Amino acid sequence: MKIRLTTLAAALAVASCTVERVDPPAALFEVPAAVEGRWYKGNTHTHTTESDGDSPPEVVARWYKEHGYDFLVLSDHNVFTDPATLAELVDSTFLLVPGEELTSSFEERPVHVNGLNIPGVVEARSDSTLVGTIQANVDAVRDVQGVPHINHPNFRWAYGATELAQVERDRLLEIFNGHPLVHNEGGGGTPGMEAVWDSLLSGGKRIYGIAVDDAHHFQGEFAPGRANPGRGWVAVKATAREPAALMEALEAGAFYASTGVVLADVRVSPDRIEVHITPEDDFRYTTVFIGASGRELARTGANPAVYELKEDVGYVRARLTDSGGAHAWTQPVFVVHAPARR
Ligand SMILES: [Zn+2]
Ligand SMILES: [Zn+2]
Repeated sequence: MKIRLTTLAAALAVASCTVERVDPPAALFEVPAAVEGRWYKGNTHTHTTESDGDSPPEVVARWYKEHGYDFLVLSDHNVFTDPATLAELVDSTFLLVPGEELTSSFEERPVHVNGLNIPGVVEARSDSTLVGTIQANVDAVRDVQGVPHINHPNFRWAYGATELAQVERDRLLEIFNGHPLVHNEGGGGTPGMEAVWDSLLSGGKRIYGIAVDDAHHFQGEFAPGRANPGRGWVAVKATAREPAALMEALEAGAFYASTGVVLADVRVSPDRIEVHITPEDDFRYTTVFIGASGRELARTGANPAVYELKEDVGYVRARLTDSGGAHAWTQPVFVVHAPARR
C-alpha cells in the first residue's frame, strides 16, 4: 500500500512538472469609452396628424417639451416633418431630431423601421423575403447616414429573434413600445422583447434596447388601451444636445431605457458594474443582473446596485423595477478575456 501511494505521488509530481501550467484567462468587462456630459431624456417614436396621430406636430412637440423631455423624434409613417417648421419650439432646453417611421410589410407582416436624424423623406423598401425587407429598410436609413431602429417586432407577431439575428447594420431594438397592441411581453409560446434581446445578445449580436412611446393619442382620455405619450423613453449620456452627439451616444450604448425609473449613473470598470438610482418619494427598487441566455445572475435591493464579475457570463445587463412596477434597462456590458497570465 505504501509503495502504491508513493508511486502515485511520484506520478503526480512528474505530471505537475511536465504539464505547462496555464491559468485560465481572467474574465473582464469590456469597459465602454467614458462619455462626458449629462443625461438627455428623449423619445424616438411618435406620431402626428401627418400620419395616423390625433394631433398636429406642434401640439405633439409641445407636449414633450412641457413634460421635461430634452429631445423628440417625430416619426410619422412614411412622412418627414422638417424640424425647421417647428423652430419656435426649439431652444436650449428642447431639440427636435428629424425622423420618420419607414412603414413597409412582407406578406401580412408589418415591417416598421425608424430612421433617426435623416435629411428628408426616405422611401420605405420591400424585398422578396421577410429578412430582406427588414434589411432593405435598415439599409435605406444607413444610406442617408441616419440611425435605424427596429420597431415592435411582436406587432401582428411579425418576426422574432431568428429573423433579427440575420439583419446587419442595426444597433437599436425596441424592447418596450408604449402602444397597447405591440405585445411587448410576448405570449402563447412567442417570446417577449426582452427574451428576443437576450437571444440576439447571446448569439453575439451587439444590439441595444430602447423604450419608446409610439404615441398616437394626445387628445381625450389617457387610458391603457390608448396610445398615449409618456410611457417609454431613453436617457442618453451625451456631450451636447445636438443630433450627431445624441446619435453617436445611442449607437455606442451610452444610454438606458426607461418606463419610469431614473438613474443617476451607470459605472463600469473591468470587474464591476454599479447602477446608481435616483430614488423617488418612498419607492423601493429591485435590480436584477442578467447574463447570457437571459440567465438571472444576481438580484439586489441596494442603491447603488453592484455586480462584481467573477466568471465569463457572456454579458451583463440590468433590469430595474420600482415598487410601482416601472422599469429601467441598462445596456449590456460584454465580457472579454484578458490575456493568460504567465
Ligand atoms: Zn409601427
Ligand atoms: Zn409608430
